[in-house]
Order: sequence, then structure tokens, then C-alpha cells
Amino acid sequence: MKTLVCNQPFDFQYITREKPTLKPTEVLFKAAAIGICGTDIHAYAGNQPFFSYPRVLGHEASGTIIKLGSSATKFRVGQRVVLVPYVSCGECDACKSGKTNCCEKISVIGVHEDGAFSEYLAVPEKNILPIADSVDDITAALIEPYAISAHAVRRAGLNKGDDVLVVGAGPIGLGVAAIAYADGANVVIADTSEERLQHIQKNLPVATINPIKQKVEDCFNGKLPLIVIDATGNQKAMNNTVNLIRHGGRIVFVGLFKGNLEFSDPDFHKKETTMMGSRNATFEDFEKVQRLMAEGKLSAEMMLTHKFSFDEIGHIFEEKVTKNKSLIKGVVLCS
Ligand SMILES: [Zn+2]
Ligand SMILES: [Zn+2]
Repeated sequence: MKTLVCNQPFDFQYITREKPTLKPTEVLFKAAAIGICGTDIHAYAGNQPFFSYPRVLGHEASGTIIKLGSSATKFRVGQRVVLVPYVSCGECDACKSGKTNCCEKISVIGVHEDGAFSEYLAVPEKNILPIADSVDDITAALIEPYAISAHAVRRAGLNKGDDVLVVGAGPIGLGVAAIAYADGANVVIADTSEERLQHIQKNLPVATINPIKQKVEDCFNGKLPLIVIDATGNQKAMNNTVNLIRHGGRIVFVGLFKGNLEFSDPDFHKKETTMMGSRNATFEDFEKVQRLMAEGKLSAEMMLTHKFSFDEIGHIFEEKVTKNKSLIKGVVLCS
């Protein structure tokens, strides 16, 4: 089978591998569409932490079940499914309390173990979720980034009508805005890129703000928002979130900055700020996204800007993905 392997930073190579043999509880998965994630870009560029080469990337995938392991019973051959790439230990305290998303030993298919950029992939059946027939392959391939967004929205604990500011219009921020809107919140999304703001105006039913040009209060009837969800991973933006919530407000950091954050403790305290991290997603988040996709409330267009083919992606990754400033989200189509 044809497989795209990342041998080392800046080195993709198509190789031929043996088709995988299945363990009893695994299924053989054939990808139809695969999302390209920031993680893939970091792995290619050599700045992904806790990462080893060579590696087959691809953790955002939709496809079909081709074959069942001898004791796999949850699915049938030919069924359309998506990959849930998180492999948790099931034994640590986080897992036991249901927080499998932040398992102490979490491993991600397509990051820490070989992933979907291959003709076939053997996957434990517990890492598969069925997808409704009304959801096309490309939309379904975006279930993982949308699930990360859904998890951040769940962390925020928002109620209908709550004022929510989403900071950062990358794929995760766009997903957060779309899901918070679907949950009935009053959503505004902030970004300094006019190109991204235009993408939102065309594809999402939420308001936008360029914080360089406008004040946040002007978007929420003169008040600051109750909830700020930061999806920038930018130190300056994250340090500033304490100044963006109203008294009694909540902050969720879904974007990750690799360093220290700093803000005024009196500002943090006087508002009795609730500040949370949000990492990965649980099965529950994937199920919510699958439902919202089936209801037509989440679409590929909200996030997606570019499509590529599996046969070309290994050759054009640097030029068309890593160096492409107009790319928000790319997806690879397998034939
Ligand atoms: Zn991803
Ligand atoms: Zn665990």
C-alpha cells in the first residue's frame, strides 16, 4: 500500500508498505479525506514537541471500514466512519474521572503513532465513530478540530444568550465560534487579519471585530463579554484576556503558548476570574460535533480554505501548506 512518511523535518517520502494485519479488536480503515493540522505542519518543520521520526502523519480522517478484526463487533464492513485519534490509558486518575482528553499517558494516532496518510490503517474499534450519511467525507474529516473546539466550548460552561468573545480566527477559533453560536451564545470573533475576517463574514453566522480598529465593548452593548475563549496561542493576546472579561467572567485557553503567561493579579482577582485550559477532546465532544454536522449546523466551509490530493501533498507541502499565508485549513482527498 502507498504510504506517505515524514522521515525527518522537511522530508516527506512516498513508500510502499505491507497492508497491516489486524489485531482481534481492530478494524481496517481506508481514509477518504484527511485534514491537515497545525501538528502536521510543526512535525514537518521539526518543531513539534514529544515527537519522533520517521512518522506517518494524519489524525483527522474520515473513511470506510474495509475489514473487521476477529473479535471486532461494533461496526460492519463498508460503514462510513471517522477516526477518534486519542489513545488514553484508562488507568490514570484523569482517565478514571472521565477526562481521557488529558490522560497522563495520552498517545495520538498520527502524531505519536503512525496515522492516516496511508492507503490503509489498522485502528482499535474504540477509536472509531460512525458518521451520518448526510455528512460528506470532507466535512467528516474535520471532526477532530471541531471536537477540540467543542471541548473548549464545554469547558466555558456557556448558557444561551451569554456574551462570548472568541480570540483568534484559526481553525479552532472558527470551530469555537460556530459551536458556541449553535449552542445559542451571542458570539463575536476577534482577529487582526482582514483576510480571515472576510472568511468569517462569508462563511459563519457570527459578528467579527478587528481589535486594532474597534473596542470589544462596542460589540456587546457597551459591556465586556462574560466569556473569552482564546484560540491564538499568542502570548500577548493570552496575557491580555484578563482585561477582556467582565467581573465574574471566565477565560478558556484552547490555544497553547510554549512559555510563561503573565497578568496583573489585582485585575485577575477583582473580577474573581475563572481561568481554564482546554486540551484535546473526549468521545462526548466528537459525538456532539457529529450531531451538529448531521443537523447542518457545522459545515466544512466554515473552516476549510484549501483542498489537495493524496498523490500531490507529499511534493507540495512546503510551498502550498507551510508557506501559504492564505491557508486556514487544508484537507487531503484520497482516491
Ligand atoms: Zn488536529
Ligand atoms: Zn490515562
